[in-house]
Amino acid sequence: MRKFNFCAGPAALPEPVLLQAQQELLDWGGRGCSVMEVSHRSAEFTEVAERAEQDLRDLLMVPDNYRVLFVQGGATGQFSAIPWNLFGGEVQSADYIHTGQWAGKAIKEASRYGKVNIVASSEDRNFCYAPAANAWQESEKSAYFHYTPNETIGGVEFNYVPEVKAPLVADMSSTILSQPIPVEKFGMIYAGAQKNIGPSGIAVVIVREDLLERAMAGIPRSLNWKIAAEAGSMDNTPPTFAWYLSGLVFQWLKAQGGVEAMYQLSLQKSAMLYDFLDRSDLFSSPVDTASRSRMNVPFVLADDRLDARFLSESEEAGLLNLQGHRSVGGMRASLYNAVPVEAVEALVSFMADFERRVA
Ligand code: PMP
Repeated sequence: MRKFNFCAGPAALPEPVLLQAQQELLDWGGRGCSVMEVSHRSAEFTEVAERAEQDLRDLLMVPDNYRVLFVQGGATGQFSAIPWNLFGGEVQSADYIHTGQWAGKAIKEASRYGKVNIVASSEDRNFCYAPAANAWQESEKSAYFHYTPNETIGGVEFNYVPEVKAPLVADMSSTILSQPIPVEKFGMIYAGAQKNIGPSGIAVVIVREDLLERAMAGIPRSLNWKIAAEAGSMDNTPPTFAWYLSGLVFQWLKAQGGVEAMYQLSLQKSAMLYDFLDRSDLFSSPVDTASRSRMNVPFVLADDRLDARFLSESEEAGLLNLQGHRSVGGMRASLYNAVPVEAVEALVSFMADFERRVA
């Protein structure tokens, strides 16, 4: 009944997680109500919240001097929150790498509050690559250094972590939990949940403790990391169901072997699709080989008059949501953790068959 879902987000969730949520929806652990219907300050929800945080810490090996926050407002809320939280010290400028639409939006937002130095950009070739590590010079003084390790729309991924002096800030919305990361190299990491974590409505922030002291005067309370940290992410009512479901995903991830297992799977799944694209005469990838994303695989057909037919026939074949982002067109298959190898096998086999049929 369930189909293979390649949506970029909100994206596929692990089936065992959905089944558990379904089972617990009317009667959660014998309480006679659901997790959505209890106080966020109750002992039973506190347990859910704390376990989710601990599981996330375990999965990413988050050091003790980092705070983990569960916040609202999505990743967009966070690229707005970053300047508010980090421009309150001596320096009101920051370095940004421009790699596409999400980096671009973060840049535009930060520019409203301080000076943004674009230290590297891949705009010269329509954002089809991640700038090399030696392609930029850091500013002398910078409150932080922001980059987007994986551009969800362009399908461009950094295959390295930048080495910089300023606190490194990363939008990991579409790559978090898909590989081990050296958290200690980052000042702050943020991610909207709706790709590799859980349902939309919640976002995760991992922030080094010393950075909680740099907020600008007048920062809106709801964006203030220090207030969130002091209140255990419950200064106001959090999205409890999204938090609970994210917690189930963390437990599922642990049972699958954690982020190293997800990393190996992501290499296997994405290689299967890229190998096919590179062999095909009809389909191709617009992204430089070294920067191809393991999570989001955009591709184009040599004749775009076939796009509509490709989309309708793939959907009939049970392969959902392959349309590229509305701003760029073409196709995109997102291969997040919850997308099984069988989905990619089915996709590649459908594409090969489609190519034969239209030849
Ligand atoms: N950054 C990246 C890399 C994203 O992929 C997205 C969502 N697609 C966003 C930011 C914006 O996320 P949200 O809708 O949660 O604000």
